[in-house]
Amino acid sequence: MPDELTRITMNEQEFNNLAKDSPFRESPVMPNMLEGDTTIQFRCHRDVKCWNACCSNIDIPLTPYDILRLKNRLGVSSAEFLQQYTFPYEMDQDGLPGVKFQPVEGGTACQFMVEEGCSVYEDRPASCRYYPVALLSMRRSDEYTDRTAYALVQEAHCLGHKEERRLTIEDYRQEQGVSDYDEKSRGWRQLILKKKSAGPAVGKPPLISNQLFFMASYDLDRFRAFVMSPSFNQSYVVPVELMAEIVADDEKLLAFGCNFLKQSLFNEKFLEEQEGAFEKHRARLNERGQVIRDAMQKDRQKLADDMYSPDPRPGDCGCGGTD
Ligand code: SF4
Ligand code: SF4
Repeated sequence: MPDELTRITMNEQEFNNLAKDSPFRESPVMPNMLEGDTTIQFRCHRDVKCWNACCSNIDIPLTPYDILRLKNRLGVSSAEFLQQYTFPYEMDQDGLPGVKFQPVEGGTACQFMVEEGCSVYEDRPASCRYYPVALLSMRRSDEYTDRTAYALVQEAHCLGHKEERRLTIEDYRQEQGVSDYDEKSRGWRQLILKKKSAGPAVGKPPLISNQLFFMASYDLDRFRAFVMSPSFNQSYVVPVELMAEIVADDEKLLAFGCNFLKQSLFNEKFLEEQEGAFEKHRARLNERGQVIRDAMQKDRQKLADDMYSPDPRPGDCGCGGTD
């Protein structure tokens, strides 16, 4: 499953580029954007000759909800999951962080692939569920909401397209249980599209915003600790009921993180700031800046002292001797 075939968020320009750059006679991506009521011919089952071929050579980007489901299934923390099963990549020219499945050591197969198929089937990511359909979530720069369309991926090794079964894309989505995944990822997908539609930023965004994006999107357990920290609560007003919900419920925390990112990245009002938080924050930054300036001044002074005070040589002290 190469990345370009399995990504689930794509803007219109990207799709057009894909169409333009690919000679469609050979490309596995059908050139048409399809609607949900389009009929496709496809069936995947244990007896196909290509069983597991699609999971043997993976390039699968993950959504925050994919990670939430998998880490909870495996009973590990988000940090443990990210470390063992993923690697980071950049989703856009500003270095917006994404994560993909890390294949088995020294190979290209998914770590969850076993002879019988997928060992995490009930919690497999959205891209795996959709395959061989690709979800195109698109937004024009002059539109506020995103639009959904689909494309069909026909890779030569996938024999499921030769099976005698016809169904609509909508029925296939139901069968694969993607509605829940789409619903839970909608806010995050819109965030990415908005970021992409905004075009390249003037200069790179500050590192902190990418770090915040990574934590709120993928490293949920660390994000929860951050939201509960005194410094966060000194800066923002989080109603008690909301705090109780996000502490106890990963999905609520994910939705909270998405809204918080919209506020941080696009200034969309979500949380009230504590009174005077901005001024206190600025004072803290000024304080830190002063400490750094003082340290630099000391370094400069030391450098000057060293330059104008060469090492003493024998006789410099005036004794005239060598002992
Ligand atoms: S998670 Fe499951 S379906 Fe997806 S690539 Fe891995 S083994 Fe295949
Ligand atoms: S039919 Fe396609 S999706 Fe099913 S196992 Fe074969 S390659 Fe994978």
